[in-house]
Amino acid sequence: MRKRLIAGNWKMFFTPPMARKFAEEIKEKFSSPDVDTVLCVPYLAIQSVMDAFAGSNIKVGAQNMHYMDEGAYTGEISGEMLAAMGVPYVIIGHSERRERFSETDTTVNLKLLKALQHGLTPIVCVGESQRQRKENRTAAVLRKQINFALDEVKAADMSKIVIAYEPIWAIGTGDVATTEQAEEACTLIRKQVAELKGDTAAQSVRILYGGSVGPDNAKELFAQPNIDGGLVGGASTKPSFEQVVHCG
Ligand code: PGA
Repeated sequence: MRKRLIAGNWKMFFTPPMARKFAEEIKEKFSSPDVDTVLCVPYLAIQSVMDAFAGSNIKVGAQNMHYMDEGAYTGEISGEMLAAMGVPYVIIGHSERRERFSETDTTVNLKLLKALQHGLTPIVCVGESQRQRKENRTAAVLRKQINFALDEVKAADMSKIVIAYEPIWAIGTGDVATTEQAEEACTLIRKQVAELKGDTAAQSVRILYGGSVGPDNAKELFAQPNIDGGLVGGASTKPSFEQVVHCG
């Protein structure tokens, strides 16, 4: 039985003091023994939000990392640094990074392998554009992204990985995928994992849906057999995120 995971992605919102204040306000409300809750916050807010969540079961994640441990990479943060801070989760290959920061399937794979090496749980994002969906290329795009991302990953490590299906056209648009579309894509991803790593691995990996998830649609989406929770952007910066965490 896969435990539900609800991950928030604060993107580039909240200064460290604002993040801390919000974290203190929501600490009790967002905590649930039945759900793994993680908030992926800006790097600069990681320490203050971890301090605020101390004693609760809410975890903190980063939104990106470099695939090298150290070196002349001005402005970058390594997985080793995150691990040393006690950060348990990291988002990898978000479509905003793929589209605007030249993230490729190859760097996604390198980052994922490095995250595993340091004991971080990678939340690896895949998803098609509106155009790719219109041209009936969704399945091919997802298969390709999954094949690249999971290259050289051991089957036994799949339980330590989270995959987030995030159709690009649904992110930040309010244009949420239908429950059928989301379940269909997550099923396809699980089948692809089964093909690559075997059935046991495919049953152990948690697959999330992301893209305009909020209090109004979370319950139905997360009730689907192949959707194990959500990656939530905008709605995770609001107190009403509580309803997403506790949607049942
Ligand atoms: P959204 O973002 O929930 O605001 O659509 C999701 C994401 O980018 O992970």
